[in-house]
Amino acid sequence: MVKCSFCEREAVARIPYARLNLCKTHLEEYLLKKLGKTITRYRMIRRGGRIVVGVSGGVDSVSLADMLDKLGLFKLLVLHINLGIGEYSGKSAEIVKRFSEERGLDYFIIDLRETDLSIPQVKAVVKKRSPCSICGLVKRYILNAFTLDVGYEAVATAHHADDLIIYLIKGFITQDSTALEKLAPVNAEIPGVAARRIKPFYEFYKSEIEDYARAGHLPYIDFHCPFKYVGWMEDAIRDFVEKIEREAPGFKISLLRAHAKRMLQKPQRASEKPTICRSCGLLSSGSECSFCRLTRRILGYPAGLSVRRYIISEYFAGNRVQIQEPP
Ligand code: SF4
Ligand code: ZN
Ligand code: ZN
Repeated sequence: MVKCSFCEREAVARIPYARLNLCKTHLEEYLLKKLGKTITRYRMIRRGGRIVVGVSGGVDSVSLADMLDKLGLFKLLVLHINLGIGEYSGKSAEIVKRFSEERGLDYFIIDLRETDLSIPQVKAVVKKRSPCSICGLVKRYILNAFTLDVGYEAVATAHHADDLIIYLIKGFITQDSTALEKLAPVNAEIPGVAARRIKPFYEFYKSEIEDYARAGHLPYIDFHCPFKYVGWMEDAIRDFVEKIEREAPGFKISLLRAHAKRMLQKPQRASEKPTICRSCGLLSSGSECSFCRLTRRILGYPAGLSVRRYIISEYFAGNRVQIQEPP
């Protein structure tokens, strides 16, 4: 039996970069402390802030909601997007509902089938793009719109160091500055058009999140989405990064910290004059945002504004809030 580095109990996790073996109690204590420090280090959100947490039902996002809840410093609202991917989505929605109810957390589920934008429906029309890139676009749009429209201060997602490092290196290779900016631990809000985005797991390894979830018997979906697609470049980068991490534990975090520092030195989004989508009124890189352009192809019209209206009317159920019409 491997003993915990702090007590006599059996260790359930090994943290290589800190050279620690931890029992369930000390793992929880260690990771909650680390979460609090990460939020403070990057000034993600004030104490008492209102956070929408995107929870897919997977191990990462359920663990994030669980840890933020245990920290007890914020007002949380769990948002689940039912992507309409058969059994996978059905089970994921059930898990999020059960988890939120057991915890007494506010939650809201958006069902994309009700807007004719489920991932299988979208994929049937847009054949050339990978389902994950379309799915990511749709999820980002909804997380942003929902957070703004229900009046929360930030949206938290469970991106962790093992995935972020791959996109970071890919961004360097392809010189994609927009992608690199999105990989900062915090993206400042632009009032009315872009919600503050935070990544509290910025310095977390997937293995520690999984150890935490297993030790705490958290519910999460344990099979992969049937559309999961990993590109050859991501695969090659992952192999390369894992080799370095084995030789130099902590390498991923060092590189991500260096990136965060560089991003913090750049002017924040809030100081720029934003470009607004002419169809839905939210942040865009051109005259129409990518979600409105995508939905124009699928449904024959840009659906941003109608999706926002649908979400809001469902959320407030009869007590509609006003959405700012685009100019
Ligand atoms: Fe969406 Fe891809 Fe994740 Fe499936 S694997 S839920 S398509 S991002
Ligand atoms: Zn211990
Ligand atoms: Zn739009």
